[in-house]
Amino acid sequence: MAAERLRLLFCDHLNLARGKYLPASKKSGGASRFAQAIYALTYGKDLIPAPGTKMLQGMPDMDAVFTAADIRAGWEMNTSVAIADLNETDGSPLPMCGRQLLKRTVNEWRSLGLNPKVGLELEAYVFERTEAGKLVPYDTPGAYVYSTGPACDPRRFTDNLWHRAESLGFKVECMTSEFDAPQLEFTLVYDDALRAVDDAFLFRLMAREVAFEHGLLLTFMPKPILEKGGSGLHVNFSFNDSTGHNVVADGQGLDLSPVARSSVAGLMRHHQGMCALVAPTVNSYQRLKPGSMSGYWRNWAVDHRGATTRISAQGGTRARIEHRMGDAAANPYVLVAAVLQAAKLGYAEKYALPPPESGDCLSHTDATEGVPENLGAALDALEADKAFVTSMGETLVANHVAIKRAEIKETENLQGDALRDYYINYV
Ligand code: GLU
Ligand code: MG
Repeated sequence: MAAERLRLLFCDHLNLARGKYLPASKKSGGASRFAQAIYALTYGKDLIPAPGTKMLQGMPDMDAVFTAADIRAGWEMNTSVAIADLNETDGSPLPMCGRQLLKRTVNEWRSLGLNPKVGLELEAYVFERTEAGKLVPYDTPGAYVYSTGPACDPRRFTDNLWHRAESLGFKVECMTSEFDAPQLEFTLVYDDALRAVDDAFLFRLMAREVAFEHGLLLTFMPKPILEKGGSGLHVNFSFNDSTGHNVVADGQGLDLSPVARSSVAGLMRHHQGMCALVAPTVNSYQRLKPGSMSGYWRNWAVDHRGATTRISAQGGTRARIEHRMGDAAANPYVLVAAVLQAAKLGYAEKYALPPPESGDCLSHTDATEGVPENLGAALDALEADKAFVTSMGETLVANHVAIKRAEIKETENLQGDALRDYYINYV
């Protein structure tokens, strides 16, 4: 049966999927208007007159535009899905739109003759509610790292998720249990950068909705249970030249090409500056700690989980760079754009690559610096990194800083479960 309706969606600054249901008559593309002041909202639903929102200018509209190519099969009955780009009503790109930023970033790399390819790994915890309505970790009595089967998902929501993902054309590389229970990892297959991020945006939403149908709350919060491991969103990337050849490796082994070396140097140089955009919540800094396998140190190494930038042990045509700092509370378009922009600064400005990490990162590291200690310090580091701010767009960054400073205020008296509950229904 043909779809009766279209679910138009875009990913906002809080990584919320906002949208509308529209009639099927829109299936050849179109536009729909939303209040630009969405970009003035915090998770607590305060309205902040942040740059770019026009909140104090009558809260005018913006356009969510989409073409037939942006429409794909959805997971609700008789409903297709479209991912929109956001424009000002004069047709210019909305500066805060992460998808427009990612498109610009990809085009900048392409104009250098290189096409970025991206593969994303998302981690998440599962919660359920007791009869009294209390949120508790999903009871998975037989779960351990890399476990599969009913004992790590008694309600089998991951079966349903797998089948839906397959039937809708998502390319799932794998699903498994992560280090702590009830924690899962979802890895999506490598693709062109925009397609990879569109898929991750929709996959995460679908996974949360399938879990919801099974009475479960799937959360991508970076650290929902303080005494257990965190959840990250690792960005694997490489570049193809105009002949489709992967240029990360220099030859068939693990040596890095000049493009890869300077890209990794860019991630090193902008380690602190990029952090507030890729790890954007107060809770993100409860995950980013030394010895947590989570992108804390300013370092890089080959096949080393203590390094923020980990070069895969697969060299030659399969060589790739994995950046492990970000989490899935971030808008994934902004997160991937941040990684590719930091890499591009390194490449364009020919940054020199410091030596690789030689320590185990548990008892010893060569790194002299980690990420900023909290979101406030990360926002200061972002504002201080002028080259990186310019590459991401000044208005997007100023909007982010204003909203996130308000988020810090909203959460300043929240601890433990109260801080978790500020985020968990949205993240
Ligand atoms: N859970 C870790 C993180 O927070 C990553 C574990 C891994 O996949 O190596 O990033
Ligand atoms: Mg993992």
